[in-house]
Formats: sequence, C-alpha cells, structure tokens
Amino acid sequence: MSKNFETIAIRTQTERSLHKEHSSPIYLTSSYKFDDAEEMRALFANEKEGNVYSRYSNPNTSEFIEKMCLLEGAEDGFATATGMASIFTTFGAFLKSGDHIVSSRSVFGSTHQLLTNVFSKWGVTFDYADLDKPQDWEGLIKPNTKMLFVETPSNPGIDIIDLEFLAGLAKKHNVLLVVDNCFATPYLQQPIKLGADISIHSATKYIDGQGRVLGGVILGSKDLITEIINFARHSGPSLSPFNAWILSKSLETLAIRMDRHCENALKVAEFLEGHEQVKLVKYPFLKSHPQYEIAKKQMKQGGGIVTVVVKNGVEGARKFMDGLKMFSISANLADTRSIATHPATSTHSKLTEEQRLEVGIEQGTVRLSIGLEHIDDIIADIKGALNS
Ligand SMILES: *Cc1c(COP(=O)(O)O)cnc(C)c1O
Repeated sequence: MSKNFETIAIRTQTERSLHKEHSSPIYLTSSYKFDDAEEMRALFANEKEGNVYSRYSNPNTSEFIEKMCLLEGAEDGFATATGMASIFTTFGAFLKSGDHIVSSRSVFGSTHQLLTNVFSKWGVTFDYADLDKPQDWEGLIKPNTKMLFVETPSNPGIDIIDLEFLAGLAKKHNVLLVVDNCFATPYLQQPIKLGADISIHSATKYIDGQGRVLGGVILGSKDLITEIINFARHSGPSLSPFNAWILSKSLETLAIRMDRHCENALKVAEFLEGHEQVKLVKYPFLKSHPQYEIAKKQMKQGGGIVTVVVKNGVEGARKFMDGLKMFSISANLADTRSIATHPATSTHSKLTEEQRLEVGIEQGTVRLSIGLEHIDDIIADIKGALNS
C-alpha cells in the first residue's frame, strides 16, 4: 500500500466488525471480555496483546494512535484526554524529584504553570532558554538535567529553533528532547525524524481542526512510550473512545485543511507586511522572519498562525479586534473559523510586562489563527478593521 501522508491518514483503520462497516464504528465500551480464564490471565500477564480496559486501550484510541505514529514516523504512542494531559504525563513519567528541565521560554500558558507551580512542588527545577538564542541552550544544561522541552514555532511569538541542532545537544548530554509539535502538526513538521525523542500534540488544535473536542497524543520509541504507558495506565489521563473516533476522522482531512490554512495565512501575512497600521508581522514563511531559513529546512509550510503587532499599543490592538466583523474573538486557535486573540490581556495576562516582552508579546500584539473561510473575506475583514 502507498505510504503517502494522505493515504495513511485515510486508509489506516481498525478491523471491521461483522457488519463490514466502511467507516470505523465507535467502540463505547469501558471493558472487554475474555474467551476463558486462560485468556484473561495471558492478557494481564502481557503474554498476549488485546484490549482489557479502556483506561489502557480501546479500538478507537488505537486507530488514532496508529495513524499518528505512521504520520510522524514514531514507533508507538499514547493518547490522552487533552494536550495538557499529554504534557503532564510526559513530565510525570520521566522526571523525579531533583531533576531539571531546560525549556523554551515561550511555552503554552498551562505548561508554564506546570513548570512553575506543579512540578516545582515535587522538586523539579527548570530554566528557560530562548528560541532565537540557540547558543545559550548548552550552557543551561546541568548534571541533573533530564529533558529539553521545546515548542517551535512558538505561541504567539512565532519564533523558531533548529530541531536537528537541539537533537544533537540532547544526544551529546544524554537528555531527552521533547517537542510540543501542536502548531506544526505531523503534516508540516516531524520532530522524531529530526532526532527528537518525544513529540506531543494538543489534538484539540489542528488535528481536530473544527473546534469540537479536546485530545492529546504522545509519540516516541517503543521503550519511551512503555514508560509513558506504565505511568498513564494508573494515573488515568486516557482519551475517550468518542473523541478518538472524531480525531481519527479529522486526520482524514488534515493534509487538505493544512494546505489551505497555510495558503491563507501566507496571503494574510503578505498583506499585513505592507500595511501602514502594522509595526511587525511574524510568519515562518515570510522572508523577513529572522529564522526563515530554518523554517524552510524543517517545515513543509508556514502553518496557520500569523502574529501581528499593530501600531498604538493596547489601544490599537483593541480597536483592530473590535473592528473585525467576521473573525471570532476567542482564546482558541486552529479552527476552521478565523480567530483573533490579544495575548497580553488574555492567554498571557498572568505574566509580568517584562516576561511578556521576553517572549515577544507587546501591548499591540494580536494573534491571528487563520481559518478556512474564503481568503478574500478574511483579508477584507482584516483590512476593514485596520482602517477603522
Ligand atoms: C492548546 C495547546 C496546548 C494544550 O492543549 P489542550 O488540548 O488545551 O490541553 C499545549 N500546547 C500548545 C502549543 C497548545 O497550543
């Protein structure tokens, strides 16, 4: 069978039931029965593969995981109820008291909270490093460092770091490289193929892509995922079969959706770059992006998020957002519907002004998640709002 991305995403399916359904059914079952006492014993002893209990595995989550593994080039995976559950599970499985993480500074808000308020309670320390200063990372690795954690492109700064470079550092110092690949999706960037140990997604974003369900997935080698599973089976962050079914269906259209998200976003970025109300535009595939060459090397296209700094600070940003007629004002991203977010007063309001500036968030910064509406309507809405 063909090994191309679209075909894998569409044609990877669990076995049909006796009804020979074309589309995979939903297996809403908490547990499974065994043919006899011996089969039950063998499954519990890991001597035989099969479903035991849906906290461990379920045909729908298995189908979703199998697709994600094939799409990213990972040996194995585990699916969770949310993206944060994937990050928590990864930290929980690999870190113990006294360990240290080097993380990219501009991580998702809840990841920042996990590092500062949750894992710190359990004696795990961390240092932040900047994506645009790769030369700083090695100096922050200490004898007790266990993990490099990175989001690239970052949210909302859209900074980028060379994943092959970080993978080299991780190997040299014998630490794990964990990548939150949520913004890029496996269609645009495949961290494991670039040398990362673990790739994590919030499937809530582009993998669903339609703003319906929450989900997450952790991908890596068989050995590492075994450690993840040993932790997750008992802590219980599992994805529901229904959401797994939705996400597996969504993967069937990921490639075609991402192509359009990226095409629309690039056009928006190019439009904004020349506009007199705009101070700065950040988009990976704009030639003006400081890490444009790295983006070109490790990403297939630039993604669906454009970050813009409008003139006149918070006033300018508010006027722009209130002038948008079609865009939704929401904290979410990666939906079919275009969304505008003002990070300084929402997703990143808990940071100090200084911390925000360190991750490239100004008062005038607006994050635009470019949807799948017609490009002419998207640009007309932005144009109208900037001129208001
Ligand atoms: C949304 C997001 C998360 C968290 O995912 P949830 O599904 O909301 O828990 C993690 N990382 C990034 C980069 C995100 O955008």
